[in-house]
Amino acid sequence: MDKEVITTRVGIVGAGPAGLMLSHLLAKEGVYNVVIDIRERDVIAHTHRAGILEAGSVRMLTETGVGGRVLTEGYEHSGIYLRFDGVSHHIDFKRLVGQTVTLYPQNEVFVDLANARERDGGDVRFGVSDTEVTGIDGDNPVISFTDSEGRSCEIHCEIVIGADGSRSQCRNLIPEELRTKHTKRYPFAWFGTLCEAPFSSDELIYCRSDLGLALISQRTETVQRMYFQCDPETKVEDWDDEQIWDHLDAIVAGPDGFTLKRGPIFEKTLLPFRSFVQTPMQHGRLSMIWMTSSMRAGSWPTSVRIWWASFAPSFSCSSTRSGRDDPGAMPSRSSSAGAFDQPMSCSRIAGRPASGSASGVHASRARPRP
Ligand SMILES: Cc1cc2nc3c(=O)[nH]c(=O)nc-3n(C[C@H](O)[C@H](O)[C@H](O)COP(=O)(O)OP(=O)(O)OC[C@H]3O[C@@H](n4cnc5c(N)ncnc54)[C@H](O)[C@@H]3O)c2cc1C
Repeated sequence: MDKEVITTRVGIVGAGPAGLMLSHLLAKEGVYNVVIDIRERDVIAHTHRAGILEAGSVRMLTETGVGGRVLTEGYEHSGIYLRFDGVSHHIDFKRLVGQTVTLYPQNEVFVDLANARERDGGDVRFGVSDTEVTGIDGDNPVISFTDSEGRSCEIHCEIVIGADGSRSQCRNLIPEELRTKHTKRYPFAWFGTLCEAPFSSDELIYCRSDLGLALISQRTETVQRMYFQCDPETKVEDWDDEQIWDHLDAIVAGPDGFTLKRGPIFEKTLLPFRSFVQTPMQHGRLSMIWMTSSMRAGSWPTSVRIWWASFAPSFSCSSTRSGRDDPGAMPSRSSSAGAFDQPMSCSRIAGRPASGSASGVHASRARPRP
């Protein structure tokens, strides 16, 4: 099969929220980019991870034209509950700092971003394999991969973005002698569950008791996410639904008689805790953006914004440093056999007004308070 060569300005490895958001922002500024991901689009769309967006994330989505569903389907929470030994204390973010958080699952953010890239003619390739990045020390880095149809492809670009998550391959491209890594593994883990049940509370509950910590989190009106602290050696298969519910109820138990609304548990996961920091995050033509170890999906826009603030000036549309900086230049695909000699459709996005304001998020519906 012929090799496909794609010439663009930014090659992005990883189509998680960080990689897709950056791709969307670059496209809005007229900077052509191509994103690849080893996972299939449908798999990412159905992988449950984070669930709460901080105000900055909602703003970033809405202000860039991706926020339609987060405003209509997300639940705005004015705060959280901290529950110590069975007594709840409401932390009212809105009153304290004038901000809210929004319940809107990470996989739905992915769906919105992937749809936006498709709508705007973006080039995002899912289900690729054999990713290899070379040439970050020179001016013309190359990302090689095999696409979902088994075709060898190369992205020739000016900058490679490593947005490939916590098990990043790209970060290892930074020479070992320049890398400083800090890793801490904790002597406890999260036992995570997904269940079919109604909301137990109007907002999330972070709970501490003699039995350990629990997080009574949420996903949708019918799917809830709950965690409790456990030993990292715990085998999830040793716990049946009733044991899990009894344990969670024991952690939240208090004089107010609060109990959880139970339902069938359809996913159990052990999530070991670790903290990991690596510096530097940029070397040659490689820049890393990622979000790890955060229990709030608010940090990916921060990471994207930092990258944007540091590097966007060098992508000014009026720059004519090289042919590829010409604002009118289209990214090109070419095949060694000439099969892909047509320019890609322009991925510039017409400036769209935000589809609403954060205040348009529907507020928590009538739900029990702990
Ligand atoms: C089970 C679970 C539960 C979580 N729950 C929460 C939570 O409740 N709250 C919270 O804030 N955070 C949570 N997180 C963390 C949160 O999901 C991540 O911080 C977030 O996904 C990071 O976004 P990202 O775009 O940096 O990376 P990712 O979302 O990991 O995206 C990276 C992408 O890169 C792709 N990739 C990797 N290697 C390659 C390669 N070699 N070539 C091409 N593509 C590649 C991957 O397939 C992936 O799609 C959870 C994580 C997990 C695993």
